[in-house]
Amino acid sequence: MAQFDEAAVRRRLTADLEQIQRDIYERTQGEQAITSSMEASNGTGISSEQADEASAVAEYDRNQAMLENDRALSRKIEAALERLDAGKYGVCERCGQPINPRRLEALPYVTLCVNCQAIVERAV
Ligand SMILES: [Zn+2]
Repeated sequence: MAQFDEAAVRRRLTADLEQIQRDIYERTQGEQAITSSMEASNGTGISSEQADEASAVAEYDRNQAMLENDRALSRKIEAALERLDAGKYGVCERCGQPINPRRLEALPYVTLCVNCQAIVERAV
């Protein structure tokens, strides 16, 4: 008895992955633009430009953090698709019990059941 609609899950994961990869692409383009504008303003010593540079750096850091999130999420989704192919999707990696379908619906790329997730998070 399947506890989830495999085709629907696959469509959803694939759509999420495409969305994230577009986001990564856009952020990567932005990263290059910020890097070149920082190089252009190097050594000017004008305070207003330094302020611009500081905000560009903050923007860059924020972008990097979002990019890192996107990359981590895309790895999780890719892993979920692989588990789907392998027939292991929806099974907790730690205890081997089925993951609650409602949990999977909210977070389709999770690999742990609620109990194991709580145990792992306490251990960190
Ligand atoms: Zn578990």
